[in-house]
Amino acid sequence: MKDYNKYLERRKQTFWNNMTKQENGCWTWDLCKDKDGYGYASFRSITMKAHRLAYFLHHNLDKFPTKMVIHSCDNPACCNPSHLRLGSNSDNVQDMISRGRINPPKGDRHGQAKLSNEEAMTIRTSALPAKEIAAKFNVCATTVYLIKANKIYTIA
Ligand SMILES: [Zn+2]
Repeated sequence: MKDYNKYLERRKQTFWNNMTKQENGCWTWDLCKDKDGYGYASFRSITMKAHRLAYFLHHNLDKFPTKMVIHSCDNPACCNPSHLRLGSNSDNVQDMISRGRINPPKGDRHGQAKLSNEEAMTIRTSALPAKEIAAKFNVCATTVYLIKANKIYTIA
């Protein structure tokens, strides 16, 4: 437990340094992002959405909320706790419908995608260590893990 608290303090410090405070009040995640623009961060070796971790750390929760963490600012990369609230899955869908975001484009048709579908496929099937692949494609290792786990880059 003592080790966990130490880890938590250290993780909090590094976590809040991985984002850029924007003029509009959003704190945008600087590291790995998926095709929809959500930031990804790791906590105790588990990769998760950065804004969920932001909510967890800011509110000093004992465990991760079972409900979804929803952005009031409609900026998936934002980790500003004052722009985040808990909601149900249906709230989130309602939010997206009302903002016209229900069908986000996939893969390389999306403006924020850094890799083409072909590159993503190459990464997915590569046998090289994640770090080597990441260096080759100029992305971070977490992106490689996520692609391999089919979490990002829908192959059309
Ligand atoms: Zn925001």
